[in-house]
Amino acid sequence: MERLQKVIAHAGIASRRKAEQLIEEGHVRVNGKVVKELGIKVSSSDKVEVDGIPLEREEPIYFMLYKPRGVISSVNDDKGRKVVTDFFPMIEQRIYPVGRLDYDTSGLLILTNDGEFANTLMHPSNQIDKVYVAKVKGIPTKEALKALERGVRLEDGKTAPAKVKMHTVDKKKQTAIVEIIIHEGRNRQVRRMFEAVGNPVLKLKRERYGFLTLQGLKVGDARELSPHEVKQLR
Ligand code: URA
Repeated sequence: MERLQKVIAHAGIASRRKAEQLIEEGHVRVNGKVVKELGIKVSSSDKVEVDGIPLEREEPIYFMLYKPRGVISSVNDDKGRKVVTDFFPMIEQRIYPVGRLDYDTSGLLILTNDGEFANTLMHPSNQIDKVYVAKVKGIPTKEALKALERGVRLEDGKTAPAKVKMHTVDKKKQTAIVEIIIHEGRNRQVRRMFEAVGNPVLKLKRERYGFLTLQGLKVGDARELSPHEVKQLR
């Protein structure tokens, strides 16, 4: 048995607060009857409808994928390119990625059918470490690294403080490998940050998401998250 608002939120229709509002405003029926109380619990055999549309009540499932480069972080692509859900041919449920990695970025991506879980992870108040390793053009100066750490001005505002560590430099090729840890998840953020300090990204990989790492996975591999991992991420 689960609380009605949780069941609605899990279906990805609304946040839990919005689900409560939908209930209170009389949009929700359980077994054909409008329910306006917030406390009630429903079982998997109860029929829940929101504005007359039955909720799909699937068991929540959670995966991580080692996304290769050259794959779209979406469930379909109108140009027929490979998408992240192509790596889950055995999964019947409709899963979708939590946030996105660029087409050319590889690394750790979570996929789930649990809308509430996805919303929680993506909420800006959720300060999850996202650890990227970037190969960049040129060798970033001390000032450039400091600027990345303090925050750089992008067209959508200054970035929040980040942690930056120089891994290796290749003086001959004039490239460097730099690790950067950010908490935000703006579109193409890491690429734009390095661009802003004059060291454009040549290659980008997300190595860690919170405590989750790619350990044991090869490019293109996926694995289910354990209930303990899911609990820790919430
Ligand atoms: N930042 C980027 O620039 N690209 C990604 O894919 C992820 C973070």
